[in-house]
Amino acid sequence: MNVNTAAKITQQLLSAGHSVADNDQEADVIIFNTCCVRNTAEQKILSHIALAKQLKLKNPNLKIAVIGCLSAKRKIHGVDILLGTEDAMDVVEKLGVGLKALPPEPNDTAYIDITYGCENYCSYCIVPFVRGRLRIRPYDEIINEFNQVKDTAKDIYLLGQNVNAYPNFPQLLAKLAEQPGDFKLHFLSPHPKDFDFETIKVMAKYPKIAHDIHLPMQSGCDKILKLMNRKYTVADYLNIVHQLREYIPDIHITTDIICGFPGETDEDFNTTVKIVEQIKFSAAYIFPYSNRSGTVADKMPDQVPFRTRKARATKLVEIMRKMS
Ligand code: SF4
Repeated sequence: MNVNTAAKITQQLLSAGHSVADNDQEADVIIFNTCCVRNTAEQKILSHIALAKQLKLKNPNLKIAVIGCLSAKRKIHGVDILLGTEDAMDVVEKLGVGLKALPPEPNDTAYIDITYGCENYCSYCIVPFVRGRLRIRPYDEIINEFNQVKDTAKDIYLLGQNVNAYPNFPQLLAKLAEQPGDFKLHFLSPHPKDFDFETIKVMAKYPKIAHDIHLPMQSGCDKILKLMNRKYTVADYLNIVHQLREYIPDIHITTDIICGFPGETDEDFNTTVKIVEQIKFSAAYIFPYSNRSGTVADKMPDQVPFRTRKARATKLVEIMRKMS
């Protein structure tokens, strides 16, 4: 999503006659498009902003803009423009450039937002607080953007924090997959609790829908899934995997897993390991649990020591590496 927003902002500024600076010393404007889903991302961006503020001492005309999640979460002093995710595109106008209705850049890969925000409130996640409640993009806008990219893009991604929360998602997918053009359709990221059998049937029916799916599991232990407020069980998840493989035998399934969530014992972690070994994902993004202030999980008892979180993540990465 951030790549998509950054590309649109870049395109607007280039069309107004700006160019991309070779390095930050030469820049008149530095825009940070931030993500604060994990603490490490937040710390990294804060140190980059601090460096940019030093450049401002040498070049008082330098403008610094911070947009995205981080700006919605905290005040950042000493910068010129601060905008949350919903208003991120306003940075173009705030820099004195009129926002134009530009056609998307011809590109091999195109991203189309279909939902914004999320209201699932998984107990570890900061997204509902920084990206706001679920908003559905109007159908006509989606079709319009799709028609603009379908003749040039090889891969088209439908995006949403919870992409299959879009009303009648399988129908939208089918409608787009029926359009002429030499493209593959992907969607990121579906939530297992909203994943219905209809979507699998549509994926199997239309050759233009890619046979890859990123389906975040987060944990293979029911106790932890409940604490995470994920609203599905391991059995529900296995059932989706089973159906996907039955109807789409060459499907590639990838996932996200959090290790060391509060309350996760060695036994709970081993349960997750067994499920990962059973499913044999094509790839998995494995992270130690990251505390985010303001979330329910941050205040939960039985926080797992950071060293244990990391050790479990490292172990699971190694298991995945061998399986891949
Ligand atoms: S569904 Fe995804 S974005 Fe929404 S709260 Fe859960 S983890 Fe965060």
